[in-house]
Amino acid sequence: AAVMTLLGLHRLRLGGLQRRNRALRLEMEERRRAEGEAARLRRELEHVTRIATAGELATSLAHEVNQPLAAIVSNAEAGRRFLHLGEAVRSELEAIFGDIARQGQRASEVIQRLRAFLSKEPPQRHALDLNEVVRLVLPLVRREIEERRIRLLLDFSELPPVLGDRVQLQQVVVNLIQNACEALREAPGARRLLLRSRLAGSQVELAVEDSGPGVAAEVAATLFDPFVSTKGGGMGMGLSICRSLVESHGGTLVQESAAEGGARFVLRLPVASGAGGIA
Ligand code: ADP
Repeated sequence: AAVMTLLGLHRLRLGGLQRRNRALRLEMEERRRAEGEAARLRRELEHVTRIATAGELATSLAHEVNQPLAAIVSNAEAGRRFLHLGEAVRSELEAIFGDIARQGQRASEVIQRLRAFLSKEPPQRHALDLNEVVRLVLPLVRREIEERRIRLLLDFSELPPVLGDRVQLQQVVVNLIQNACEALREAPGARRLLLRSRLAGSQVELAVEDSGPGVAAEVAATLFDPFVSTKGGGMGMGLSICRSLVESHGGTLVQESAAEGGARFVLRLPVASGAGGIA
C-alpha cells in the first residue's frame, strides 16, 4: 500500500510539472508573438516618422525611444498574460518588471538629454569608466542576445576615466550591440559577440565585434551617413547618430573587418586629462 501511495504521489507531481511546462511554453510563444508585433509596429512608426518629420532631431528621438518603449509594451503584455493564466512564476515576473523599469528609465533619460539639448544646456561631462558604461547597458540588450543564442564574450582591461555624457555613450554602445545582434540573426554556425576594451596610448578603446556576415559591400563606404540601411524597415540613422555623439566627445568611431569575417566597430575616446576619480 505504501509503495502504491508513493507511486501515486510521484505521478501526481509529474502531471503538475507537465501542466506547468505546457503553460510556460504557451506563454513563451505568446511573448515572442507580442515582440514580433511590437517590432512590426516599431517599423511602421519609424516609417511614418521618416516621412512626416521635421528633421534629424525627431528622427533620432524616434530611433532612440522606440526601442525601450517596444520592450516595455511587450514585457507588460507578457506579464499581464502570465497573471491571467494564473501561472505567475515569481522569478519570471520579477525579471519582466525589472526589464520594464530599466527600459523606462532609459527612455526617460534619452528624453531628458534631448530637453537639455534643446534648452542649450552644455552637455554633461563626467569622469566615466567605459567598462562600467558597457556593463550598465548589458541588461538592456540581454533579451536580444539570449533569443538569438549569441555567445557574449567580455574582455575588459582596466581603464582610466574618460570625460563624457553617460547616457549618450550608452546610446552608442546599445546601438552597436543591437546592430551586431541583427547581423547575427541569420548567421549560420556559432554566433559570437565580443566586447573588448583596452587602453591604447592616450585613448580608451572599445571594440564591438561580431561573427556575422560582415558589412555589405554596397554600404561599406557610406555606413555612417544618415539613411543608409540594408534593412527592410531600417532608418539608417543609428551609426550616423553614434558617430556624431562620439565625435562630440572628441573621439572616433570606425568600422573594421573582424578577424573571423564579421564586423568590428571600434570606439575611441581620449583619456580624461588630469583625471581624478570616476563619477
Ligand atoms: P539601421 O540599423 O537602421 O540600418 P545603422 O546606421 O545602424 O542603421 O546601420 C546602417 C547599416 O550598416 C545597416 O543597415 C547594415 O547594413 C550595416 N551594419 C551596421 N552594423 C553592422 C554589423 N554589425 N554587421 C553588418 N552590417 C552592419
